[in-house]
Amino acid sequence: MSGAPSLAGKRVVVATRSFASTDPAPRLLLEREGIAVVQPVPPPRGDDLAALLDVADGLIVGAIPLTEAHFARAPRLRVVAMHGVGVDHIDLQAAAARGVVVTNAPGSNDGAVADLTIALMLACLRQVPVADRAVRDGAWQGVVGDELSGKTIGLIGWGRIGQGVARRLTGFDVKLLVHDPFVAPEVIVARGAIPAALDELLVRSDIVSLHVPLTTETSNLLSADKLALMRPSAYLINTARGGIVDEEALSRRIEAGMLRGAGLDCFAVEPPLNNPLLALPSVVVTSHIGAQTREAIARMGAIAATNVIRVLHGEDPLFRVA
Ligand code: NAD
Repeated sequence: MSGAPSLAGKRVVVATRSFASTDPAPRLLLEREGIAVVQPVPPPRGDDLAALLDVADGLIVGAIPLTEAHFARAPRLRVVAMHGVGVDHIDLQAAAARGVVVTNAPGSNDGAVADLTIALMLACLRQVPVADRAVRDGAWQGVVGDELSGKTIGLIGWGRIGQGVARRLTGFDVKLLVHDPFVAPEVIVARGAIPAALDELLVRSDIVSLHVPLTTETSNLLSADKLALMRPSAYLINTARGGIVDEEALSRRIEAGMLRGAGLDCFAVEPPLNNPLLALPSVVVTSHIGAQTREAIARMGAIAATNVIRVLHGEDPLFRVA
């Protein structure tokens, strides 16, 4: 005998466009439990999101700000599930103060982000967007770039994505420098890379790539002073978070020819309207698409839905952040 699904009457707000966007399976996981799923298009932010939270038991979010003001207007909320990994945009203290569990989905999208990191490295080195625009504009011109082989690549952060980038680079015959104070040097050496202090990595690398979470320690990690250590011929790749880099200083250095360019998937303010970096042809930009592959979206959705269901059942989620 089967009665009503056990979570009938519960309501989950989805504030990310990509949840279940390529396959309905994650949404069906929720609905089979009797949960009502509310997924407005476009995804609500700010006050629009807060207005939906008064009757929400769960919330699935992408990388959008979630503040004390949101939690204050969510009396029933038990769980926030990040549809991804980084949770720097969520006020974790406010969540904890109101007994809201925050979860994420580590391991769901690192391959996708590592792929995009390599794509941005090559797009920068070969100026792919410049050539693309030229052809479309009717200009059949030579665009001279640099080769990845033989370069020194500096990876800041040796977690899932940093290591994924390193694995993908093995075919390119590069030298790898790695800065991660939380990983034993011998672990890095065992993988064929060279542990380095941050300054040394910045001075020696042809490409610097960021793979750390945005925290109080990593906010502005690449300050104007640190960027000034990089070679004029070097590129910066950021598929982590915009707040890790001083964007104004980065823009000034590229414009002045003190850095050759950058590949950026993340910005301090998204979307990056009026950001001077957008005016620079040697800066390749993408719209925070690191995790946006069909495969990663399916994994993130399944984990986020499972996290929500488990918490609403009074169980531990798969991955608890706070
Ligand atoms: P992870 O937790 O596996 O690895 C992070 C690594 O950073 C850890 O090894 C940690 O020791 C290291 N670290 C922390 N502070 C550091 C510091 N001050 N200096 C050097 N290393 C430091 O995380 P991950 O899965 O590799 O993801 C990394 C980040 O990438 C996430 O936190 C998220 O912000 C970002 N991300 C972006 C996208 C995107 O769409 N562009 C998608 C997923 C993740």
